[in-house]
Amino acid sequence: MKIENMTRKDIRSLRAYNPGHFNAKYKMDANESPYDLPLSLKKPIFVKMRKIEFNRYPDPCACGLRKAIAEKNKVKPENIFFGNGSDEIINYLLQAFCGQGESIIIPTPTFEMYKIAGIINGNRVIEVPLDEDFDLDGAKIINHAKKTKAKLIFIAYPNNPTGNCFSEDKISSIIKSTDSLVVVDEAYFDYSGKTFLGQMKKHKNLIIFRTFSKLYSAAIRLGYMIADKKIVDAANKVRLPYNINSFSQLIAFEILKLGSYTKNRAAVIIKERDKMYGMLKNHYETVKSYANFLFIKNKGGAEKSKKYFQKNGFSIRIFESGPAKAWMRLTIGKREENRAVLKMLLRGVK
Ligand code: PMP
Repeated sequence: MKIENMTRKDIRSLRAYNPGHFNAKYKMDANESPYDLPLSLKKPIFVKMRKIEFNRYPDPCACGLRKAIAEKNKVKPENIFFGNGSDEIINYLLQAFCGQGESIIIPTPTFEMYKIAGIINGNRVIEVPLDEDFDLDGAKIINHAKKTKAKLIFIAYPNNPTGNCFSEDKISSIIKSTDSLVVVDEAYFDYSGKTFLGQMKKHKNLIIFRTFSKLYSAAIRLGYMIADKKIVDAANKVRLPYNINSFSQLIAFEILKLGSYTKNRAAVIIKERDKMYGMLKNHYETVKSYANFLFIKNKGGAEKSKKYFQKNGFSIRIFESGPAKAWMRLTIGKREENRAVLKMLLRGVK
């Protein structure tokens, strides 16, 4: 018996997700916030955590958190669906709406989990390259969606790894002109301030993603979608029971109360991002970013750059293959981290 041969054929060539250089001194590879919550803000949360009964399953509907998130976004609790990270929600949407061999459409390059989840789910993944300004090819997406009766279209807004926001008109016209469900993934909303939430009432096929991972806490693994109740109901049919644990529910609920603290942190990161972009743009090909990272054309060659950054204690995302090949993605860190990485970049890869 050979386990390799027993593994599903379409899964064999996949590689397990590798988060890379976990213990680097300067961790600028995963688009997390560089700021942990200070202990003074964690302590009152710890006190509340003591009351959690370790022997019990979590609240299956995450009711308290659901109400708070619904209020924050001015929608009804029935329009909210939680995932163990938005990664999990991608999977549930595919399971609920897209059968084996049915198609999904993604621009490329974009967040790689859309494609990976599509492959895992046995879907046909149609990739539509971005144009030379890293904007969507709206006409092609609409065309493919109609021709292949695509079930889902994934659009990251801002896009990862390029950092730009695609043209609003193009996204609106994709939402309007197709029968596909259109996910507008606003994972970086706290850094862009740009959203399609206002179009939800008009368009039943629009789904918005948000996540706690990029500003509030990546540790608690909490993402959510805002969508029509019928979409939420369908996703609930395939959701594994108790997917959001009691600790994450509580911590997320408490973090939401720290609005001015987190807003302030986002403002610092945005300022740093824009300053770094200003300093790099005359030396590197780069893209104006609406997220908490910069996309920079790699001058050194992927292998050489990777070694160079690693040797100096930096973990940054270097694309060695695929549509972002020859580019790198740098998460904005604390001021001193940014200064250190800038110094290296401006010196050039050696
Ligand atoms: N969407 C986009 C566009 C992302 O960049 C990421 C994280 N890299 C995610 C979703 C996943 O977020 P989560 O941590 O909530 O699974």
